[in-house]
Amino acid sequence: MIKIDHLTKRYGANYAVDDISFTVGEGEIVGFLGPNGAGKSTTMNILTGYLSATSGTVTIGGLDILENPLEAKKQIGFLPEQPPLYLDMTVDEYLSFGYDLKNCKLNREKHLAEICEVVKITDVRRRVIRNLSKGFRQRVGIAQALIGNPKVIIFDEPTVGLDPKQIIEIRNLIRNLGRDHTVILSTHILQEVQAVCDRIIIINKGKIVADELTENITRAVDSKRRFNVKIVGPQREVLAMLKSKPGIVYAEALAERDGDAYTYMIESEVGLDIRKNLFYTLAEKNWPMIGLEALGMSLEDIFITIVDSSEEKKKTRGRSSVEKKIAQSVMQATAEKQAKSDADRPDAKA
Ligand code: ADP
Repeated sequence: MIKIDHLTKRYGANYAVDDISFTVGEGEIVGFLGPNGAGKSTTMNILTGYLSATSGTVTIGGLDILENPLEAKKQIGFLPEQPPLYLDMTVDEYLSFGYDLKNCKLNREKHLAEICEVVKITDVRRRVIRNLSKGFRQRVGIAQALIGNPKVIIFDEPTVGLDPKQIIEIRNLIRNLGRDHTVILSTHILQEVQAVCDRIIIINKGKIVADELTENITRAVDSKRRFNVKIVGPQREVLAMLKSKPGIVYAEALAERDGDAYTYMIESEVGLDIRKNLFYTLAEKNWPMIGLEALGMSLEDIFITIVDSSEEKKKTRGRSSVEKKIAQSVMQATAEKQAKSDADRPDAKA
């Protein structure tokens, strides 16, 4: 549905976007993430036709955004971070205005009524926008993006400034829209991506550093993998056992001491719950396990590690080996995917 091919945007000597390529399929919901200054807005602005690229192409539903701007743009609904609302208009007046601006050909009454139902603003259609809560204003913004029934909807930070209940409602709404639309969601909130998106693309310093299915990353970030274990027994021998035990990929002794017990941090293989097995091994050795604490690893940790690892100068010290491994494997898979898409390029372009 969306194809970005070797897109570059340069400002003087600086690259805001540096040779990025990706495709988004029909019905996919993709989270576009990156730290400030990464190039997200630039990419979104080129995608929506607000900005021209230095080189590379963007096609929406097979139409080049530069060669066929009007037709290509008709396929896109955009909700900018600040929804372009006219506060003195009623919801109905505003949507009708948007309908005219977009030169929409669908039946006005029916189409706008349907949109209002979808985003649940039917009850406030006669209200002046200024008097609506932020959550409702956001819905009105989404309604505006849906006029003309575009195939692609792009959301820029759609839940910023909303209260927790509104956030959940807007996320559900986006998920539902994803059933019939291709959605790109630019956000810095990782839980949002996890809750809503099928796929995550991470951009840093103008380059794509990760492009992976959300479930693959979430699975890797399993909370049952990293523990602090408190064990009574000779520290050196216990550590040697932990290090050599199948299923444990990392073990280190922490400085903490509690009588004759020491604490160790261990990390197990992906998908393996080592706890019971470790309990029996320690019992056999007569080294009682007197504490076990799961150490959470969040998507945030992985995100920061990926961003840090993608910058050669930045150290990833302080990151756990598991985080680094996940980050490396995501980045490597992404690089392979990019290389493959480059190799397929002549065919893809034909
Ligand atoms: P993000 O949306 O991820 O925060 P942007 O796409 O806004 O990042 O910016 C990417 C980089 O391009 C930044 O370093 C920014 O300073 C630079 N940049 C963006 N717009 C301009 C501009 N009009 N002129 C010069 N530099 C720009």
